[in-house]
Amino acid sequence: MRAEVVEMWADYIDPEAIERAGRILKEGGLVAFPTETVYGLGGNALDPRASMKIYAAKGRPSDNPLIVHIAEMDKLAEIVSRIPDEARILAERFWPGPLTMILPKADKVPKETTGGLDSVAVRFPSDKIAQELIKAAGGYVAAPSANTSGRPSPTKAEHVEEDLGDAIDMIIDGGQVGIGLESTIVDFTDEIPVVLRPGYISLEMLQEILGEVRMDKGLLITECNVRPKAPGMKYRHYAPAADLTIIEGNEAAVIGRINQFAADAEKRGMQVGIIATDETAEKYPSGIVKSIGSREDEDSIGRHLFEVLREFDHCNVCAIYSEAFYTPRIGQAIMNRLLKAAGHKIISAS
Ligand code: AMP
Ligand code: MG
Repeated sequence: MRAEVVEMWADYIDPEAIERAGRILKEGGLVAFPTETVYGLGGNALDPRASMKIYAAKGRPSDNPLIVHIAEMDKLAEIVSRIPDEARILAERFWPGPLTMILPKADKVPKETTGGLDSVAVRFPSDKIAQELIKAAGGYVAAPSANTSGRPSPTKAEHVEEDLGDAIDMIIDGGQVGIGLESTIVDFTDEIPVVLRPGYISLEMLQEILGEVRMDKGLLITECNVRPKAPGMKYRHYAPAADLTIIEGNEAAVIGRINQFAADAEKRGMQVGIIATDETAEKYPSGIVKSIGSREDEDSIGRHLFEVLREFDHCNVCAIYSEAFYTPRIGQAIMNRLLKAAGHKIISAS
């Protein structure tokens, strides 16, 4: 059966539709919903069967744990066995918001939800629709990104329909999300807090508040066999259908190199896809050129990254070339996603 799509706006949340969505979740069904980061695929986090349904709908390996979403601060203490002081400080500063914390789990959380681990990932999103839905569902909604496993995360309801329209019960369409990159994940199960996934809240922002915070070794070293601690970070991800390569270096050299690839493809009767910015889009005379946003506004680049990757799946391109986006604040998060999408293929043009 095709999922029912319900449109909603943050400033008018239809109470009847939210109640219906909450009931679907309480009865073990699946509802996709907007958050400030990306769309989530929600199921009741305390119901092992709902978690198994989420893995099946996404085609996600069941050893890759789900994030439990809450919508009231005092719900946290019920699903974790301990809250370190530093986690409390981050919750006060960044919740509701795009921050996920890994904490030791309480018995109440089934192992199906945590991929067999003794820890649980928890987030309190700021999106008003998400908050109302979580409350209507009883307080605990397990929600990974609402895409088929391996595909770019969804930043619009249409992306969810494309991937999961036949596999779930309802999609709440709240329009385009604001951030477009998944939450920052901080692990509190070791002595020192560790960032397992970079996001809108940067390492520097965390260090400013907590002092010592480390980056997971598996994120820093891509070439060797250090395994990332977040099980999900080991999988190839976000990948568009065509092969993606990142070209880094100074602007003129990058444009020159990409234009060379585009011209070579044209000679062979083919076309490349090019991920450019508002500032550079006009400097690529051939190929299918898409601007991801403006370098003057790095948030616009984060917001459009997954959408642009998806759009190329609807274009007939033999390969995709992207500029690199080492922007000042969220560049780490943007490049983390782009490198994964490219299977870490990156060429220096300078
Ligand atoms: P997604 O649900 O698509 O946003 O991905 C959630 C990410 O959080 C995946 O990379 C998971 O592996 C990671 N994650 C969730 N729970 C845990 C946990 N208990 N320990 C470590 N990583 C986790
Ligand atoms: Mg995901």
